[in-house]
Amino acid sequence: MLASNNPRRKSWLDIPEGSDFPIQNLPFGILSRDGGPKKVGVAIGEYALDVSALYDFGYLDLNLYSHETFENDCLNDLINLGKEANRALRERISYLLSDETFELKNDTKRDLFLIKQSALDMHMPIKVGDYTDFYSSIEHATNVGTMFRDPDNALLPNWKHIPVGYHGRSSSIILSGESIHRPKGQTKPDDSDRPVFGPCRLLDFELEMAFITHPGKALGGSISTSEAEDYIFGMCVFNDWSARDIQKWEYVPLGPFLAKNFASSISPWIVTMDALEPFKVQGPSQEPAVLPYLEYEGEKNYDIDLRVYIEPEGEKESLVSHSNYKYMYWNMAQQLAHHTVNGCNVRGGDMMGSGTISGPDRSSYGSMLELSWKGTQPVQLENGGERKFIQDNDTVTMRAACEKEGVRIGFGEVTTKVLPAI
Ligand code: CA
Repeated sequence: MLASNNPRRKSWLDIPEGSDFPIQNLPFGILSRDGGPKKVGVAIGEYALDVSALYDFGYLDLNLYSHETFENDCLNDLINLGKEANRALRERISYLLSDETFELKNDTKRDLFLIKQSALDMHMPIKVGDYTDFYSSIEHATNVGTMFRDPDNALLPNWKHIPVGYHGRSSSIILSGESIHRPKGQTKPDDSDRPVFGPCRLLDFELEMAFITHPGKALGGSISTSEAEDYIFGMCVFNDWSARDIQKWEYVPLGPFLAKNFASSISPWIVTMDALEPFKVQGPSQEPAVLPYLEYEGEKNYDIDLRVYIEPEGEKESLVSHSNYKYMYWNMAQQLAHHTVNGCNVRGGDMMGSGTISGPDRSSYGSMLELSWKGTQPVQLENGGERKFIQDNDTVTMRAACEKEGVRIGFGEVTTKVLPAI
């Protein structure tokens, strides 16, 4: 076990009970203060550690990193240093924040390193090069297949053999807190042969997690399932916005396009795979057997509690979905192995969405499409209202956290308000 993951390790900082960011977490993000330069930060309790200042005052290995690694408008340079350098950094920060040493605690310049998160601005943590979205939840794929095709043959013949995915668009990946406008596009009414143009009427969220890669192998090389973890930096919560009515009309024959590329929202803190290590669990059994390049050993799934809330304008939020990442049929190692098996090269800062994560029962479905069963069964809200899909001025928030042995590894949240079409 990494020293940073010891559930008994304590920080000399007061960490509020139930915080997403105990000393066992230490997720990375990009922060700034008072319009100053953007820097790499690490969340700890209600504070964030300015890693750039930590470096400047000599707390970090000068051979592994440079000032520019940490005074930087994204995490990509740090991520590109690879797994070992990132692991060493998190271990060092964990030690400095632990009660096993007081060098940082007793530093008179401490207030330069540790800043209340409420006094900081958070920024897009990753310059996302390529974005790939998978379709790896069997419950989600079954629900969609049941609604739109054949309930007796909901899964397409390839689904249990291929971690199905498509290449999405990275330019419209945005940070939590940024509002989006309802997209417009072509849809085709059921009672007409011709399409119409206008604002999307069936706007939906997709509850997903995304992982971010370290630099992979050169073009032509493949990452095996046993190597995959060395190439994954960390994870965030991912709301892959979807326009269902646009999707329905456009997706044949080449798949998602304008129904998906108008926005995807991420949470600001990237939780490292090291911090998630204690929360590994066995995945669902895969029948029929997968091809050899997709076989894997050990626990590759993660027990991550996932929740989605809708907050109508001026009202309180309502929990509309409670799912878990552990339901994923295809795991990240298989996704990455499949993605690269043809020699496709992944780069540092690529983002891979899990696909909508639905659980086995209605309350755990990961999209309004499924929760309202194509709009036939509205979801009740706490204010007495109901939703079939997302309305203008609704705010959708997703939260994720792991808990075990009194340690809570949280992801914070991704929250996005939907404004009317422009
Ligand atoms: Ca998606």
